[in-house]
Amino acid sequence: MKCRVCGEPAVISLKAYSTALCAPHFISFLEKRTLNTINKYRLIENGEKPIVAVSGGKDSLSVWFMLNKLGYAADGVYINLGIENYSDISFAKIEKMADLLMKKVYSFDIKRLSDKGIDGLAKILKRVPCSACGMIKRYVMNRVCIEYGYTTLVTGHNIDDEASALFGNVLYWKEEYLGKKNVVLEARHGHLSKKVKPFFLCSERDIAAYAILNNIDYIREECPFSVGAKTLIYKDMLNRLEQLSPGTKIQFVKGYLKSFIKNRQEDIKNTENFCSKCGYPTYGSICNMCRVLERLNIGEGHICFDEYDPSVLDTTERLMT
Ligand code: SF4
Ligand SMILES: [Zn+2]
Ligand SMILES: [Zn+2]
Repeated sequence: MKCRVCGEPAVISLKAYSTALCAPHFISFLEKRTLNTINKYRLIENGEKPIVAVSGGKDSLSVWFMLNKLGYAADGVYINLGIENYSDISFAKIEKMADLLMKKVYSFDIKRLSDKGIDGLAKILKRVPCSACGMIKRYVMNRVCIEYGYTTLVTGHNIDDEASALFGNVLYWKEEYLGKKNVVLEARHGHLSKKVKPFFLCSERDIAAYAILNNIDYIREECPFSVGAKTLIYKDMLNRLEQLSPGTKIQFVKGYLKSFIKNRQEDIKNTENFCSKCGYPTYGSICNMCRVLERLNIGEGHICFDEYDPSVLDTTERLMT
């Protein structure tokens, strides 16, 4: 198998494009594809200040690495879920990338809320861990943007994430969620930051290859609470379809994007309320996070961040870590 551009031995085949590429040409292919998405959908415009939601996994570390390489200076934000043998390893990978990029990371420790990790907290809230995690992450990530002056929250979601979520929503006809996914969700000034997904049209496999070829040290293990998740089953099914008919996932997601705008506009009209306590968009008078704080009997002050800033570590400190 030879690289279609230079004829050197290829390291990856891209069946959806009927092509194969060597390492440098694959890296530049994925970067160009991401840059096209950024430009076409106006994900990061002049004057915007992006921050990347990092988990320590391949997608978020790769998008953070790539954005900075492409000239989009971006810091990171991390939610420590307090999961034994997982959260600390994840953060170590994030610190390593922060050192490489010389970028700041804000981290929020979920134990600030109740002294418990996400599973203990979820039990108190009578939710399943992923539901509590999703709600808290959305809130806290938005909060860091608003408090520290970032305009744009970047996530590492890829086409496999989007296609599997879309598949699940279509399968059960969850119309209320169908209009909510997009490459870009615009800001609502003072309340909600802009949210963007530069890897929206890149596959998980391609991103893993990009991470490996760039020596990005990411956590291989998945979050233990993802075991048995329906989205993983959908991903597996879609991968089998993709193998039989390359290009299926991209057709599915691009088709969705074409019919998206109308639904989204209606969705915005339906959610004009803002929380009377913190200003976060909500369907009722108080947002879910403020309800959680009430239930735990704690104030908004518990939502605060630690900062890891490699630019202020001296050389001795850096060598010791
Ligand atoms: S799998 Fe883990 S990281 Fe993902 S939503 Fe569930 S608890 Fe959160
Ligand atoms: Zn080549
Ligand atoms: Zn609130």
